[in-house]
Parts: sequence; structure tokens; C-alpha cells
Amino acid sequence: MSILTLNCGSSSVKYSVYDPEPKSFVCRGIVERVGLSGSFLRQQHGQAESRIERDCADHSAAVQLVLEVLTTGDSSPVRDVASIRAVGHRTVHGGEKFARSARVTPELVKTLDALSSLAPLHNPPNLAGIRAAQALLPDIPHVAVFDTAFHQTMPPEAYLYPLPYEWYERHGIRRYGFHGTSHLYVSKRAAVLLGRPYDTLRIVTLHVGNGASAAAVCCGRSVDTSMGFTPLEGLVMGTRCGWIDPAIPLFVMQAEGLDAAEMDRLLNKQSGLLGLTGRFSDRRDIEKAADEGDARCTHAIAIEALSLKKVIGAYAAAMGGLDCVVFTAGVGENSARIREKALSGLAFLGIHLDPAANEHARGGKAEARISRTDSPVRVLVIPTDEELVIAEDSLAILEGRFDAPDFDYSFD
Ligand code: ADP
Repeated sequence: MSILTLNCGSSSVKYSVYDPEPKSFVCRGIVERVGLSGSFLRQQHGQAESRIERDCADHSAAVQLVLEVLTTGDSSPVRDVASIRAVGHRTVHGGEKFARSARVTPELVKTLDALSSLAPLHNPPNLAGIRAAQALLPDIPHVAVFDTAFHQTMPPEAYLYPLPYEWYERHGIRRYGFHGTSHLYVSKRAAVLLGRPYDTLRIVTLHVGNGASAAAVCCGRSVDTSMGFTPLEGLVMGTRCGWIDPAIPLFVMQAEGLDAAEMDRLLNKQSGLLGLTGRFSDRRDIEKAADEGDARCTHAIAIEALSLKKVIGAYAAAMGGLDCVVFTAGVGENSARIREKALSGLAFLGIHLDPAANEHARGGKAEARISRTDSPVRVLVIPTDEELVIAEDSLAILEGRFDAPDFDYSFD
């Protein structure tokens, strides 16, 4: 049997096929340029890479193409459509309604529709994917796996903003947090790698990719996270500003006569590392330019690293101590320089980096310990696997284990 995972963005559909026995992915792929001209599908199935060009006018056409590619040919990844037993949908915003993954019902779809105002860029394509897949595969369970769910354990002091309380009541303005499946996965893996019970550990997880967020995971529960009402808050990101003085956008809007939509675009697309360097959001480009003497790129690296360092300290304080720091996602898994700079000077917290292990941990998608063996706080690099969480949660719901999150992603 197979579990299909779908991650529908505004113009893309990422997918994977998971085989619960022996707990491995059979293939992964993506349809790009959905709703635009020149759509194409790329798939990796074992050693075989394939590419199919076909216009997909909408998510329904893209999901249809995925099913066709998955089930056609002698060595197709899936024997036939009937062997797909459940579909797991990456769903960005579950608001306060969902603290864990849930089976898609007409009521859940209605709730997601209502939550679209909180995530206007993400929930509508997620919903389009759910509707398309349900129409094509009506007889099997569909499961929504939320980016926000893991952070629903935050206490009010972490999720309420010091703003008029009516804004929370009227508009749902509070910290939700995102990247929850990633923070859940890497924190559980950390417990497995350390050989210690998940519910005894104080872990700071740092998901640093184009978007970036940190979480304080205390005794198996997210107790704080850096992204907030939207994914704009928190750490310095590729093109998003993260934490700034909220008076700045108001000042610039008045000074330059900008409207809210233009400021939204500037803060999300033209800020962060791109804003600082004026040229790059990709850390590889920034590191190269810094090596060639570009002062703005050198500053950008230092600013990003300082934002990570400060969040580690803050979350250690919030949890009353620290056992483990985990780096994940594109930058966290690959940039030895950002990790080294983020952790420098944290010996007072018990963090001692092993420089050689840190240099060695890049690419290769391998888990690694990069702290010295005598470091009281363990520092780990753990490649994230959000699809695995989506697939395992879907399987759990398919099998009626609604309280499933007991799986620790350990295959040993
Ligand atoms: P997304 O948020 O889009 O999923 P990823 O997790 O794939 O992002 O991370 C993308 C980021 O990872 C890019 O900024 C890229 O530069 C960075 N990255 C990838 N490889 C390296 C590397 N070897 N050194 C530094 N940064 C890297």
C-alpha cells in the first residue's frame, strides 16, 4: 500500500509516495508553473529522473497528471490508483482549531475556508489541492497536516501580543508559528539520536532555509516560536525582514507615500538578506561575495548569525536551561559558517562547537553531531523531512490511531 503526500502552493504541486512497509519513499516529484503556461512535472523514482511537459490550467489538472505519472508504465512508482490508501495534505494554517493532524471532512474544509483570511497566499492553494484530490480519489481518507499544529501547545504568554486584546478576539491576532512539521520532526529525531526520552529534553530547533524559524521545544511541547501571526516575524530570512521596530513601516509609508500592499511586498520580498546585501538572498552567493570582500555581505552574515544566537539565548532562558540545539533546512544543514558564527561565544550556556565536525556537516543529507563530546549542550545537524511527518500522520489516521504522534521517526 502507498500513502500519497501533496503540498500545493500557489503555482506548484509537490508530491511524494510513501511505502509504510519498509517506511521509505518510493518517489518524490513536483509539478511547476501550475496555472501558468509551460507547466512541467519532474520526478525522482529510484535512480530514474523524468520530466513531462504538459500545461496544467489548475491544481486539479496537476493532481490528475501526478496520478497518471504515478500509475503508468511497467516500472511505475504505484501499481494502480487503488493501492493509494490515503492522501496527506500539507496545510499551512490550522488556526486555533487544530493542534494535530486531522481527517478531512466537509466541516474541516469549511473551517479551512474561513481560515484563508489568515493565510491568503497559502490556504487557498492547499484547499484547491484537497478538493482536487478528493474528487479524483473520493473513497480514501484525506488528511490535513498543519504547519501551525505543533505550536498550539504554546502558553498564552508566548502567543499573545501586547496589543489591544480585542484584536485577538475579533481578528485572531496572535502568534501561531509555522514550520511546525519540521520542528516536530527534528526535535523528535534529536531525542532518538541522543538516546534520551523526548519528554525530558529542552531543545532549540532552528529551521533556517529561505524562510527561517526557531522553536523552543520543552519536554516534547513547543513553548515558543519565532514566526508569529504570519511567517514574516522572527529571524532574518532570505527576503523577509523578521523582527523589526513596527514603527519603521509606518514611517516609510508616510515618508514615501506607499500603501499597505506595497509595504507588504517590500517587507516580504525585498527585505532580509536581499535588502541588506542589495543583491542576494541565497546564502551561497552571500558567503562567496563576503569572501571577495563585499562589506554588505559580511555584515549580512553577521546579522543573520546574531539573530540566531539571540534566539538560542532567549529560548534557553524561557525553558530554564538547554540540552540540545538542532540546525535544519537548506542553510542549517549546509552552512558551517552561519552555524559557527551563531554558536560562537555561547560557552557560558554550555555550547562548545567541534569545528572539524561542523565543517564536515554539509550536504549529503546526513545527521551529525557538531558539538564537542564534552559539550553539556549537544548541537546536531538533522536534515528535515516534512513529507515523512505528513505520511506517518496520514497512516496513523488511516489506521485509526488518532492520537498518533507517538511515532519518533526512528527506523533503527
Ligand atoms: P525553502 O525555505 O525555500 O524550503 P531551503 O530549506 O531549501 O529553503 O533553503 C534554501 C537556502 O539554503 C538558500 O538560501 C540556500 O542558499 C541555502 N543553502 C543551500 N546550500 C547551501 C550551502 N552549501 N551553503 C550555504 N547556504 C546554502
